[in-house]
Amino acid sequence: MSGHANISLFVPHAGCPHRCAFCDQRTLSGQAEPACAADVARAVARALPGLKKHPQAELAFFGGSFTAIPRAEMTGLLEAALPFVQNGTVSGIRVSTRPDAVEDGVLALLKRYGVTAVELGAQSMDARVLEENRRGHTPEDVVRAAERVRRAGFSLGLQMMTGMYGDTARGAEETAARLAALGPDTVRIYPALVLRGSAWERWYRAGRYRPPSLEETVELCARLWAFFEARGIRVIRLGLHASPELEAGRVAGPWHPAFGELCRSRLFLHAALRTLAGAAPGEVLLRVSPRELSQALGQRRQNLALLQQAGYRVQIVPDAAVRPGMFAVRLPSGEERAASIHKEGGGCS
Ligand code: SF4
Repeated sequence: MSGHANISLFVPHAGCPHRCAFCDQRTLSGQAEPACAADVARAVARALPGLKKHPQAELAFFGGSFTAIPRAEMTGLLEAALPFVQNGTVSGIRVSTRPDAVEDGVLALLKRYGVTAVELGAQSMDARVLEENRRGHTPEDVVRAAERVRRAGFSLGLQMMTGMYGDTARGAEETAARLAALGPDTVRIYPALVLRGSAWERWYRAGRYRPPSLEETVELCARLWAFFEARGIRVIRLGLHASPELEAGRVAGPWHPAFGELCRSRLFLHAALRTLAGAAPGEVLLRVSPRELSQALGQRRQNLALLQQAGYRVQIVPDAAVRPGMFAVRLPSGEERAASIHKEGGGCS
């Protein structure tokens, strides 16, 4: 994932017209109350020491339906944030919201206050899945909102979820394809987790909903990641942030604190197997960027074990000449090949 940095302020459920079946932003954010204007300066002050490393950091309002927050509260937050854009402390403001709360008027207002990126919680592009998960909007709302956000000149972010009630891996891949067609600049992919207090918790306890396994989810999300990146769309988040509140509020679902790492490792495994396809079994030397050595090896060196099962005794070594996302292979025949972990024109649908 890219080195994207935010100073995040959470507004749990602010502006939400109802509670979606999977959602509990208080658990996800670890906050009971939405941030207020005074919290903005405090958050920037806390983040200041780390900002030198991230000159492109943005102030971000997450966890609710920002554009549906009562207007006075919304502008209060933006007024508190704008000076930090004007004095160059942050490069812009990022907000996330519902696709059915994005009118041209509110976008014009966001523009005046220095907002640069709007993220839409699309979650699925299947009307039935949206309805069954009580989203309260349609796929057409996502398309309309994305067009408005782009037309207004914002960076467009889209968020999708895998493993939703009533969805399938194939359905998530179709969602990814439809979202990619909307030309987002960034994407976040969240595997479904059953959170305490959500409708999903009741459905899970009643045996009505079973989230997919971690293994299925890693496999799917690795494919989705490759799919977006092959189209030049940055995946800026894969999986939820680990936090004590999430640990306490998570009832079930495919959770791992280093979920993105697991997916990246899976991409290496797929790419290595693709590159070795048709090669005679034997000793293989694989050179990777030093930054990606642990991902290439896999958790507990799992990738080495799986490649061995396929007939290859693979040694993976760091090489500063290899760019991240690429690797160089010496096959048992002595032939050298270079490859990308993202399949050329790779796709999940
Ligand atoms: S998913 Fe979004 S719109 Fe639905 S309740 Fe959560 S924050 Fe609100």
